Order: sequence, then structure tokens, then C-alpha cells
Amino acid sequence: MSFDKMFTNWDILDYLKENKFKKPTEVQEKAIPLLIKGKSLSVAAQTGTGKTLAYALPAINLIKKLEEKEGNNEENGAPLVIVLSPTRELARQVQRVIKGITHHAKCRVRLLASGESGKKIQSATNGPVDILITVPGKLHQALKKGEIAGNNVRMLILDEADQLLDAGFSKEIAQIKTFFVGPQIALFSATIPLKFEESRKALFPDVQFEELMLKGTHLIRQNIETFNIFMAYTEKQKFTVEYIQKVGRGQGIIFLNQKEHAAELHKYLLAQFPNKKFHLLHGAMTPQERKKSYNKFVKEQGILISTDISARGIDIDGLSWVLNYDLPFDSVYYIHRVGRTGRQGKPGVAYNFVTAKDEKLIANINRAIIEQDTLKIRPLELMNKSKGPAKKKAPPTRKAAAAAKRAKNVKRSPGFARKKTKR
Ligand code: ADP
Ligand code: MG
Repeated sequence: MSFDKMFTNWDILDYLKENKFKKPTEVQEKAIPLLIKGKSLSVAAQTGTGKTLAYALPAINLIKKLEEKEGNNEENGAPLVIVLSPTRELARQVQRVIKGITHHAKCRVRLLASGESGKKIQSATNGPVDILITVPGKLHQALKKGEIAGNNVRMLILDEADQLLDAGFSKEIAQIKTFFVGPQIALFSATIPLKFEESRKALFPDVQFEELMLKGTHLIRQNIETFNIFMAYTEKQKFTVEYIQKVGRGQGIIFLNQKEHAAELHKYLLAQFPNKKFHLLHGAMTPQERKKSYNKFVKEQGILISTDISARGIDIDGLSWVLNYDLPFDSVYYIHRVGRTGRQGKPGVAYNFVTAKDEKLIANINRAIIEQDTLKIRPLELMNKSKGPAKKKAPPTRKAAAAAKRAKNVKRSPGFARKKTKR
């Protein structure tokens, strides 16, 4: 189905034409008509397949229809559509996408997130707003204070829905929900954990969801090449330097599990490469620091050193590699992290630093990928020439670890020689 058949609104069609979105992606083709019909929807589709427009276009279409029927929405701080995102970086990105559309199809889009200026926040709460893009904590606060009214909300969109329905956020979402009166619900994600349906039922017991589970959900995209590099934990910094010298050209993200380690690596790399651009992002930075650092990464390019707050949703054209300095504890996060590259069919590369204590993790990740092999995804490449997941047990003693390290050093040299590791 073409965009012309989905939308009658000329402004939306103009936007699509001007931005050269010639035809809908699969998720857009399937989700948009259902959302336009007013159905509540639960969608799973791979990273980088255009989920943002799949909800943003019908949301704006709805606002335009309401405008025709009911006139302009003049109530202050009473949005018709709310988009919730787990992080403010993603919320800002979604706002930019939606602003691109409303440049054509005029409506009032506001962002409510920490790190924004007081003026911008006021315009979200004190003036009329059609689409509010926000994060759970900030929205909950604003609803409680009566700065935002929920009674006008017709469509509630959860981007990265599995994370929002997960333990960390679900209580807040349950509270937020009580401010709304039966809006259409749209849940979008690239990963659907086993307990997702249960959480969804608990949070939205009265909502009848249509489900869209697209082929390839949970899979690492086939256009992402993966390399595992074995090393001792203490060698990680040194290998990062080597990686940047030999392979890590252009824009990329280095993921670490802990904010302190991210800050430390950032400092170390700045000292090693005074002429390169490194940006830092983690949850202990102030909202202003976060905003500044992330914007610089988008504008000036270079390398972002980050925790999992950048793992989901971030869409940067030209981001060509991801380096897992630490492996994530959860294979779901692995899928999101490497899904920052290889978007819309472009090539991408993922490198994993694997230490002895990561063997279980990498085996889990490999298994998660292989078991969902409906697209015949290649298993991860292993640097030590074995083809399957790492099987050796972690060395139990320090002496054994040192021996293992020496052994690995021998095999280290082809570490970044891509030709040799490419299949
Ligand atoms: P997801 O949320 O599924 O990870 P995004 O919504 O961030 O993916 O979109 C990924 C990229 O695909 C964006 O840069 C977007 O501009 C582009 N894109 C979206 N829809 C289309 C389309 N119909 N045709 C071409 N490119 C598209
Ligand atoms: Mg997305």
C-alpha cells in the first residue's frame, strides 16, 4: 500500500514527498492503517525500520481530523496525543521527527523533559499543545501538579514499550494512566520479552490490542557484521586505543555498563587522542550536561562513550559502528545497542570485547540470536577461530587467568585485521 492510499491529508503527503519517503516500510504499511482506524496496537518490528513515522504520521493525521471535527484544541496544557519515551535523548529525537512533519501539517508539538529551558517547559504547560513528547517521570510530575491535563488525550504512544512496561517504569506508567480516559494506545518496540504480554495485560486490562509482530523482531540485522575480540579485562583500554587507531573510523558508540567506567574511559581517550572528538553520556550527568554532550555528538560527530541510556531508539545517520567495551547483561540490550547501526539497510559493524568472565554472557547472546534464526542470521564471529559460542569455562585462579591471558595475547595480533575475520 502506498502513502497516497493511507493519507488524504495533503500536508502529510507533502512532507513525505519533500523528505523523499517514497514508500512505506513494512511496519508503516501494516501499522498506519490500523492506527488510523482507531485501533489500539502492540507492534514489534526490528531496529531501524521506521517505527517513529509509523506512529507519528497517524498521530498527526488524528489531530488534523479532530481539528476538522471539533475545531482547534485551545485548552492550555491539554494534549491530544502523548508520546512517551524512556530517555530524554530519544524524546528529543522524536520531537525533531514530529516537528519535521508539523512544519507542513501545522500543529503544536511540545517537549517536556529535564534539560529544556524554563521557557520551553512553560510553553508545554501554559499554552495549547496538540502533541506532547515526554518521559515518564516528568509527565507524572506535571500531571500530579495539574500542569498537564490528561482528560483530552486521545492517543497514548509508548516508544520502546517493552522498557516502559518493565519493572523500572511500570509503576509510574500505571500512575500516569489514571489521568487518562480510555485513549487509543500504541505500543512500539524492537524487542518483546516473554513477560511483556503479562505486563501489558496488567497495565491495560480493558484495552483490546491488535498485535503486529513483524518478521525479524529480536534479530540482529543481517547487514551488521559482528566481531568478537577476546582479551583480559585489564587490556580493554589498550585495545580501545588500538581499535580507534586501526578500525573505528567515523561516527560510533562505545558502550560500557557503568557510568564511572564510562567517565574514566572518556578521560583516558581524550588524553590519548587530543585531536579527536569524544563525547560522554551517562545517567549521573546533569540534564544540561547530557543535552550538551549528546547534541555535540550529533553535530560534531566523533565517538560517543555511553551507558545503556543510548542503547535504544537513537537514530543517527552515518553511525557506522558500535563497540561493546563491556557486554550488556541482557541480550535484549545487545540487540538495541548494535541496532544503532545498520539502519534502513545500510551496513554496520559491531565489535565485542570479550573477557573470560564474559563467556557466559556472550554464549547467552549467541544463543539468543541463533535460536531466533528465522532469517538465518550468522552466528557471531569469534576471534579465536572457534565458530560457535565460547565454550571454555572461565579460568578459576589468578595463575590460570594469567596463563589464559598469555595464550590470548598470541592470538591477538589479527585482532582488528578485518579481512581475516570476515566470513
Ligand atoms: P526504528 O524506530 O524502527 O528503530 P526509526 O523510526 O528511527 O526506526 O527510523 C530509522 C530511519 O529510517 C530514520 O532515519 C528514518 O528517517 C528512516 N525511514 C523511516 N521511514 C522511511 C521510509 N518509509 N523510507 C525510507 N526511510 C525511512
Ligand atoms: Mg525507534
